[in-house]
Amino acid sequence: MTLRSICLAAACSTLLAVFVGCVPAANDGQTGEGEGDVDVGAEGEGEAAGTVAMGGVCSCDSECEGVGDNSGVCVYGVCFQTAASASCSGNGSTAECQAGSRCWPLVDGGPGLCWPDCDAHTCGGTCDADGSCAPSTGATCDETCATNCLNTAGGEGEGEAGPVDLGTPPPAPTTSCADIPSFECTVAGGSTAAIEAFCGELIVFDPRQGDGYDDYAINGETSSNQYRSFIRRDVAMLVKYAAAHTRCTAANWDFGTSVLGLGDMSEQNGSIPGTSDGQPGHPPGSHERGYDMDIAYYQLGVANNRLREICPHTEGGQEAYHCTGEPTSLDVWRTTVFIGKLMDSPQYLTVGVDGLVGPILQQAAAVLCDEGTLTGKACTANGFAASRNSFGRGLSFDVSEASDIGWFFFHHHHLHLSIIDKLGNILPNW
Ligand SMILES: [Zn+2]
Repeated sequence: MTLRSICLAAACSTLLAVFVGCVPAANDGQTGEGEGDVDVGAEGEGEAAGTVAMGGVCSCDSECEGVGDNSGVCVYGVCFQTAASASCSGNGSTAECQAGSRCWPLVDGGPGLCWPDCDAHTCGGTCDADGSCAPSTGATCDETCATNCLNTAGGEGEGEAGPVDLGTPPPAPTTSCADIPSFECTVAGGSTAAIEAFCGELIVFDPRQGDGYDDYAINGETSSNQYRSFIRRDVAMLVKYAAAHTRCTAANWDFGTSVLGLGDMSEQNGSIPGTSDGQPGHPPGSHERGYDMDIAYYQLGVANNRLREICPHTEGGQEAYHCTGEPTSLDVWRTTVFIGKLMDSPQYLTVGVDGLVGPILQQAAAVLCDEGTLTGKACTANGFAASRNSFGRGLSFDVSEASDIGWFFFHHHHLHLSIIDKLGNILPNW
């Protein structure tokens, strides 16, 4: 069972058919983005304890029973569990799964999932040749509340479903990347409060251009008045670290470019960018006091990596404010490396991306972790794999408007970084 032929949620070309007909939220005319209300309860809270055992029939992820690091997840109408690490150590391995289940990705290169063994569970689907309980052909579930649900209706002429073809992974870095600036902000011998006071100090992003980044004038800034570019010292250090690491990693890649454009941060007094113009560009509780930064995606086929749309984003001729087709100009590999290096910091909270981008980055991260280009948290269950639909301290994205808790709209032209401060605090609408 080396190939699982079921479509990986949002990575399918036929996903378009699902989204046509969704009506985008009315835009209020502001330049704001959609980091909306998010439940910021303590980690682990808010997860409904599912009661349907593995192999049982389900409609939503929340119905499925999870154990420890293995969360319940509804896969095309059958309860599975997530693997305890980003990817399976081997096809059919048991190390990442509870007894009575084994690990395979849903598609080659995708995140690992624990498939229920037919001899250990009552199977509400179909037992396959490996003795796993697989979803029955044509089965489906509710895509508004289950991660792996879409596109089982048969395509209706939309063509074969399948994962995005990522092409050949680029070569791993040949340089050691030893000269990368550190992301570790601290005060030697300082108290936690002193460390927070220093590392949380709002500073202007300086210098404007550095190793692998360009904080260019954007959203009304000029080169002499970059009033939207104030950020916590520790966040500035982390972004410089990840950008430099990406530039180094990609030194021998024969596609794309490595200078990353930086967007909105906060104003000098910590207010939301645009506040001094009377037009705050973000919802309250985001982009305040330097906890958040908007950053471009690395791109292909364009001259630079400035903030711009990386996908079709209209429906019926109307602006949809999210990707409505595959993100064809996304530089998947650099973007994945960059986010993976951001995850090296214990202060990383999340990066939010478009719903059609998230699954592709997860697929790429599994490859980069396998080959050793990415290591550490990025390759654990708390890294790229910690996403489900949306919140969590991994990668955040919403795959449909119905399931939107803040990421579905306005992330088709940038990603959004949020951090935890030295005292463990986060903004209410990160
Ligand atoms: Zn943002």
